[in-house]
Amino acid sequence: MPSVIGNASSLTGNTNVLSDLDGAHDTHRRSSAGVAPPDSKDVEGVEVEEYQRFFIKRPKVASEDNDSPDDIVYTTIVSDNCDASDAHTRCVTEALLDIATKRALFSQPNFPRRLVRPIVPAHLIAPAGFKGLGMFATRHLRAGNLILSERPLIIRPAGAPLRQDVPDLSQTQRALFSLSEREMQLQVMLQRMTHECRDAYLALSRSKYHAECGPLLARARTNGWQALTEFNFANSGSCGSYAGVFDELSRMNHSCCPNAVYNWDTQTFSGSLRAVREIMPGEEITVAYCALGELWAVRQTNLQAYGFLCACPACKGGPAADARRMQILIDAYAASKVPTGIALRRAYLSLIRRIEDEGLEALPEYFAALLEMAKYYRCVKDVAKAKAYEGKLNAMSWAMRGEPGAV
Ligand SMILES: [Zn+2]
Repeated sequence: MPSVIGNASSLTGNTNVLSDLDGAHDTHRRSSAGVAPPDSKDVEGVEVEEYQRFFIKRPKVASEDNDSPDDIVYTTIVSDNCDASDAHTRCVTEALLDIATKRALFSQPNFPRRLVRPIVPAHLIAPAGFKGLGMFATRHLRAGNLILSERPLIIRPAGAPLRQDVPDLSQTQRALFSLSEREMQLQVMLQRMTHECRDAYLALSRSKYHAECGPLLARARTNGWQALTEFNFANSGSCGSYAGVFDELSRMNHSCCPNAVYNWDTQTFSGSLRAVREIMPGEEITVAYCALGELWAVRQTNLQAYGFLCACPACKGGPAADARRMQILIDAYAASKVPTGIALRRAYLSLIRRIEDEGLEALPEYFAALLEMAKYYRCVKDVAKAKAYEGKLNAMSWAMRGEPGAV
């Protein structure tokens, strides 16, 4: 087993990292070896006693030589390049990372890099009727515009395989054990947070769908966004993704015809939000929690985890819009088979118009259609129209890929 370094600052000499758990060698595996249950009274509003029922304390890891890249370690990631007066730029993140990922992160030069932010603030958080709080535009936004970039309050593995090394437990008990462990991990993370970040985390809503979870895990599951997308946590297959919970990005509400797209950027260690079409001042900013290319009934099922039935413009009429949505997907596939020429131009023009009418610019088919049109007009040497489509394409490229350079 390779020897690993148990302190982030010694990985890179980067002083942006505070320390691992209180400076001790408290690395723990997914199974949380060696981490003592925190005292519930230390975290306001959190009750954990019922989750300690299945918590089994295991021997503490004795030395760094026992570490594996799969070990998980608590890490505080601090940026020294944020403006403390800007509440939208959290500069402290509590992270639970496997050591291989942590090493990869801190081997990047100048990690974490400076956040790219809108020159003029573009959003506010405000009541959104029956949806609770939501995010609203404070100025006119065009497709591709950056609305917000933010460092997460926490980052942690989104899933965990069931423990098989705990004797005499049924599958149900193993599942409960896993939930209790993850609740305990979040307890530790919250205890390490600043009061401001902890309050922000505890103020987030939790879906009743996650009633089997502890209160902290329910919040993480209700409000998590994909993070560290290029890293797989500890080779654990479908469990191997990371999720981040944010103060503001986690306030965004869902729409099946969203006007914005979320992206993760590892170099700046942040999530960002960009418009995919024009957004007017006062308009709610929405993103998609589920795949847009699904039928109404499937989308509603997929959204159950968030505890609501969608009433967005596409869902108001129930499955009435399904036929149009499915036809767009069918026609997008058909258009990709059309040889270049007038027929191709006609097919993609129709597709782009219908996608925009349905508010489905966040579909990858929209980006593909813009690309084909730009290529078509370059091919027929209509430079003006080619440039017009290339401009749209650039904007959508920023939005869909979250390229940090454009504001
Ligand atoms: Zn909807």
